Amino acid sequence: MDADLIVIGAGPAGIIAAFTAAREGAKVILLDKNKTIGRKLAITGAGRCNLTNHTDMNGLMENTPGNGRFMYSAFQRLSPEALMDLFQKELGLPLKIERGNRVFPESDKAQDVVGVLYQELKNKGVEVRTATKVAGLLSTSDQIGGVRLDNGKELNSPMVLIATGGLSYPGTGSTGDGYQFARLVGHQVVPLTPSLIPLETREVWVKRLEGLSLINVEVTSFYQGKKLQSEFGEMLFTSFGVSGPIILSLSRKISPFVLEKPDSVSIVIDLKPALSKEDLDLRVQRDFAKSINKIFKNVLDDLLPQKIIPVIIELSGIDPLKPVHQINREERTRLVGLLKSLPLTISRPRPIAEAIVTIGGVNTKEINPKTMESKIVKGLFFAGEVMDVDAYTGGFNLQIAFSTGFVAGMEAVRRVTALCM
Ligand SMILES: Cc1cc2nc3c(=O)[nH]c(=O)nc-3n(C[C@H](O)[C@H](O)[C@H](O)COP(=O)(O)OP(=O)(O)OC[C@H]3O[C@@H](n4cnc5c(N)ncnc54)[C@H](O)[C@@H]3O)c2cc1C
Repeated sequence: MDADLIVIGAGPAGIIAAFTAAREGAKVILLDKNKTIGRKLAITGAGRCNLTNHTDMNGLMENTPGNGRFMYSAFQRLSPEALMDLFQKELGLPLKIERGNRVFPESDKAQDVVGVLYQELKNKGVEVRTATKVAGLLSTSDQIGGVRLDNGKELNSPMVLIATGGLSYPGTGSTGDGYQFARLVGHQVVPLTPSLIPLETREVWVKRLEGLSLINVEVTSFYQGKKLQSEFGEMLFTSFGVSGPIILSLSRKISPFVLEKPDSVSIVIDLKPALSKEDLDLRVQRDFAKSINKIFKNVLDDLLPQKIIPVIIELSGIDPLKPVHQINREERTRLVGLLKSLPLTISRPRPIAEAIVTIGGVNTKEINPKTMESKIVKGLFFAGEVMDVDAYTGGFNLQIAFSTGFVAGMEAVRRVTALCM
């Protein structure tokens, strides 16, 4: 045997699994096809790494729409609190908590997170082999035996962990290899779709607003007219559609629908969520009264960002040169309606390569939630995004990777120990 445990993939899930198992005395080999470990981790949180969310089990469940129940036990074994203790007390990385309970390293450097994890791998004697690509698994009918590398070499081990990540940002190494490894030994892979992804719109006027960020707006999504979800916060217009924090959150539900049926989802943007329709109408009337001799296109400056004014005027159908005192009630009602619900039709999500996470993956029904071991092949474990689990933004996806990696590392050692007795 070359090792007690071979871990495929040095992302957060694989790294924590590797040093957790090594801490328990196991001989561990950690393989990654990249030249360095934690490539994706190093770009998370816009380079700052939102590594978890300082919340309780309810918060975790609410924010894990993709198989949250499956995660329950792993979240209990390594909670956000325990993960923060691990980083601060054991790995020596000071952390801070920001708005929405998001946890970041105090230094604001994702690279520091990768740095302390790498140090721990070294301290615990994990054999880290980078630039080493796994081509397949070695297994008998129901027992794992090791891995085959792409240079043809074989490494033998009674325990193997697949922690190869999802399908997004393939430049970081997450190219979906683990799905194929799992399929070949009999696992089912739940269809893969993008989540936390910018959305393309049917309307082309968005291009004129490219780069415009709206703060404190409320966006609501509808599937065939039925309300899906509402989010309040910040969004951004792009050349192809919409993006920004609340759009990414909404995309979790929207993406599978529009991939199946393009144009079936619409969103409406409430540009003035703090005001009811009636209050906004009064506000517009006051603005008009202040500028009684001005023309329509020159009276919206106090109400809206400059860039969006021409678009709103066009969509309102009101003549931009019309003096405001000539604007009638029906026209004003139309304008207010538009400001309260600016509609857009979602044509499709951006390609999965641009997603923050992947929906779908190795079917969780075939994985023991208490151990992360395959129910099909003994000694084969899964952790992180390769499984059919996903969460919203806020540090929850990294918590999933760390919690499941931790459990897999602990349980793989337990299985090796049992084998030896
Ligand atoms: C731009 C961006 C920002 C993000 N920001 C955040 C954030 O702030 N907070 C948060 O919670 N989540 C964030 N996420 C999501 C989070 O990064 C992922 O969910 C997480 O990295 C998944 O961890 P993982 O260990 O399962 O897989 P990955 O981090 O994807 O690691 C998988 C590793 O496996 C290796 N590998 C794959 N195939 C093979 C093979 N055949 N042989 C050898 N090695 C292989 C890859 O090279 C890679 O290093 C972000 C994602 C992106 C894309």
